[in-house]
Amino acid sequence: MFCYIAGNEQEGHFSLINEACSMFAHTNPLHLDVFQSVVRFEAEVVAMTAALLGSKEISSGGQVCGNMTSGGTESILLAMKTSRDYMKVKKGITKPEMIMPVSAHSAYDKAAQYFNIKLLRVPVGKDFRADVKAIKRRINRNTILIVGSAPGFPHGIIDPIEELGELASSFGICLHVDLCLGGFVLPFARKIGYPIPPFDFSVQGVTSISVDVHKYGLAPKGTSVILYRNHDIRKHQFVAVTEWTGGLYVSPTIAGSRPGGLIAGAWAAMMSLGLEGYLENTRKIMETSKKIERGIHEIHGLFVVGKPDMTIVAFGSDILDIFEVNDIMSSKGWHLNALQRPNSIHICVTLQHVHVVEELLKDLRDSVQTVKAKPGPLDGGLAPIYGAAGKMPDRAMVKDLLVDFMDTTC
Ligand SMILES: *Cc1c(COP(=O)(O)O)cnc(C)c1O
Repeated sequence: MFCYIAGNEQEGHFSLINEACSMFAHTNPLHLDVFQSVVRFEAEVVAMTAALLGSKEISSGGQVCGNMTSGGTESILLAMKTSRDYMKVKKGITKPEMIMPVSAHSAYDKAAQYFNIKLLRVPVGKDFRADVKAIKRRINRNTILIVGSAPGFPHGIIDPIEELGELASSFGICLHVDLCLGGFVLPFARKIGYPIPPFDFSVQGVTSISVDVHKYGLAPKGTSVILYRNHDIRKHQFVAVTEWTGGLYVSPTIAGSRPGGLIAGAWAAMMSLGLEGYLENTRKIMETSKKIERGIHEIHGLFVVGKPDMTIVAFGSDILDIFEVNDIMSSKGWHLNALQRPNSIHICVTLQHVHVVEELLKDLRDSVQTVKAKPGPLDGGLAPIYGAAGKMPDRAMVKDLLVDFMDTTC
């Protein structure tokens, strides 16, 4: 994942966000009586995000609620901890287990390790979507939760959320939908007319959703949202302490003090882009993704993994080592992610790619040609060198380095 934004827009968008971040850099929503501004920003970011993801379509009246977190991983950690404690109260489960497809993000393994939850991963179907029957077979009386992704990070494919919702409802367990990647794309792609299956709170049985504002929401890094269907579930996320000498302490997330500047930055990003901005961006990146997908189909020796639903296109090869292709692409400056089962690589399409599709496809064709002609690993390697050897950088040098690095990390 690199920059999700590009072009002429980039400069104005970045400077607005940077300004918002620095204006509120000293604030901390832990002290909600002191920093009411960021408390309000957080509430509005959560409400706007919830409205995008079906909170208004719940017939029993919208009770969807949540918090901002530091990223997808924290949102997922919180959802797992909350579901564990909710299920302990609701069903008396003390040896919790959760079940998910092999395509679900590695953050769930982290949650399982941190919170002592047994994690069962099941294979996906031939279409690379969650195999609902396989998940059902693993459910037992200790199961607290199942997970579906919309889409999954590896292949950009949406799991059958409606069927997972029915399954979760029928067993009275939680269903978390991972919208970290899709939350700020799918609602807009559907509006534009792409066939997007149900994925949000409008689906019965969905108990929580994680969604990253710092990916396609184009907010500063370190911002994500965790949402719950209702307060009854979310209350298990909070830690309230009365038994220390510091007085009443209530914290909703993993961090205690939190950076209010990032919350203001996310609010500024969402407010300035608005529905129109996200729609326009989605139109561009969806068209670009389809072009890339078609281009890869046309390259002899490559196959696209499954049917990408969104803006992630994964591809592999039956006749050559795709990782050698990846090495050559890296040397040409393209950063693609390596995947396994099957061996493949993916491109996560952002606004940066909109005007370079032809170059990308040409470099990919050339790389495939090179590997076909001469299989084997690339020679040499990359070693970054910071200034003159043995010299401690002073402030001016560090500033120069920061400027140098701006392009390469974007
Ligand atoms: C990025 C991502 C995560 C993890 O988010 P971080 O912000 O990297 O912590 C989880 N799930 C999916 C589907 C993602 O794309």
